[in-house]
Amino acid sequence: MKYFLLSLIAVSLASCGELRQQSNKKADLHTQNELNNNALHWEYDGEHDPEHWAELSPEFIQCAEGHFQSPIDLESYSIKSIKHDLLQFNYHPCSVDLVNNGHTIQANIEASDEALIANGEAYALQQVHFHSPAEHQIDGIIYPMEMHMVHVNEEGKLAVVGVFIKEGHENTTLAGLWEKLPEQVAEHVHPEKNCDVLHLLPDVHTVFHYSGSLTTPPCSEGVEWFVMKNPIELSKAQIKAFRKQYHHNNRPVQLQDMLSVEEID
Ligand SMILES: [Zn+2]
Repeated sequence: MKYFLLSLIAVSLASCGELRQQSNKKADLHTQNELNNNALHWEYDGEHDPEHWAELSPEFIQCAEGHFQSPIDLESYSIKSIKHDLLQFNYHPCSVDLVNNGHTIQANIEASDEALIANGEAYALQQVHFHSPAEHQIDGIIYPMEMHMVHVNEEGKLAVVGVFIKEGHENTTLAGLWEKLPEQVAEHVHPEKNCDVLHLLPDVHTVFHYSGSLTTPPCSEGVEWFVMKNPIELSKAQIKAFRKQYHHNNRPVQLQDMLSVEEID
């Protein structure tokens, strides 16, 4: 049985810069993890592909042995009741550091510590990155791209908002980032305009929620996933521009007996 509850969307007026100081420590930790993981050579194709991630390092064992692995085909699970009825997005326009990290194009973001309130817990937005094609599926439908907005709370717990991307109109919010995508691995680009992160979300915030994992090594579990049911749009040219850098940077869907999915409307 499905239960539909109202998710309240609140917009705070605080500037992202006010809380920059507090976010720095976590951003540094994040960068360190990113570097460590990148040092271990994993890929989407060839002998280091997702089938072999767990063999590359003892730290990657969850990729093969986890029971709550992401991504999934959301509607292949029975969608159950909801534990929370409140999801708040407090995103503000922020400057971004756009980096080609060898696995995707990632926008590291200076954001407030309460960018996302989920189930009463506050999370800071750390970074936004992209996969092509999409990683999650809805009943077997595979969108051309998926955006992941990665958040972390004080205890280091991760919450990721996933947004499907379909081909359509030009996405003017992302146009600033897409002006010059970093082509070389480890290349950074600093777009002039702030990114209005709130406007990256679809108009209707119906989400699928489940507890899963990182979709990249080390495939750590305990990641709270909020996958938006409705896609946003990028133009054909914008999708092509991303695919010039990365195509097929998606982990295949995982079949997980123990997972349960909730729909929050
Ligand atoms: Zn991702």
